[in-house]
Amino acid sequence: MEAARSTKEILAAVVQHVFGALLMAVGDALANYGLDRTLDPAEYAIPVIQRNAIISACQDRADAFGARAEIALALANLMPDGYDDPTVTVALRPTIDHRPREHVLTVLREATDVIAAASAHCDKIGAFFGNGSLQHLRAVLTLQRGICTVFSMAFGAGTRITRRGPMSLLITSSSGYVYGLDFHPDPRICLNPGCGALIDANTPPSQTASAPCPAGRHRPSYPAEAPQPGVWQLHS
Ligand SMILES: [Zn+2]
Repeated sequence: MEAARSTKEILAAVVQHVFGALLMAVGDALANYGLDRTLDPAEYAIPVIQRNAIISACQDRADAFGARAEIALALANLMPDGYDDPTVTVALRPTIDHRPREHVLTVLREATDVIAAASAHCDKIGAFFGNGSLQHLRAVLTLQRGICTVFSMAFGAGTRITRRGPMSLLITSSSGYVYGLDFHPDPRICLNPGCGALIDANTPPSQTASAPCPAGRHRPSYPAEAPQPGVWQLHS
């Protein structure tokens, strides 16, 4: 396991060791399986404590390639079932941090402008709606969480950040995972009971009745001149 150099090699090691041992116990061998005779992991079971220890070792090793999530998905289909056996124990494993020493982030200059624009937009929301207002906190906290994810090594030790929109980023990680951090403005809607009409932020409310208002006049959720409130979200 420690020698595995890729997700594939981790999975191969699991098959080799886990199923090799299970089959040997019944006088069979992995070599007897192939295209004409397939192995169904669901037909086998190991103590749940061992199962968890194997999964956790695989995930730790996968940190070396930013593939923790990928390996968890693959193992869900590959591992034998677990059963409770209080007599079984597993030896404590030294905790090894498999992540590479550095996380190298490459930020294209257009992306630095996006980050500056996003931060400035948060400031404008704070100035308009009030520092610490719900609109301000939603914007600041979601941007913060998004940027923290970009800095994390969850998807590998190399990350390239480019511009996807005026306040949105496209992130390509060395593990091959590509995702976006996008600004989603809140829809500007009428707050009158029974209305909820969408009001275009670019035209005055008097001219933009996408539907007539039961209250006579639309009451927009935020003024047209306000910096658009909204949140940043991660998208795969
Ligand atoms: Zn209305």
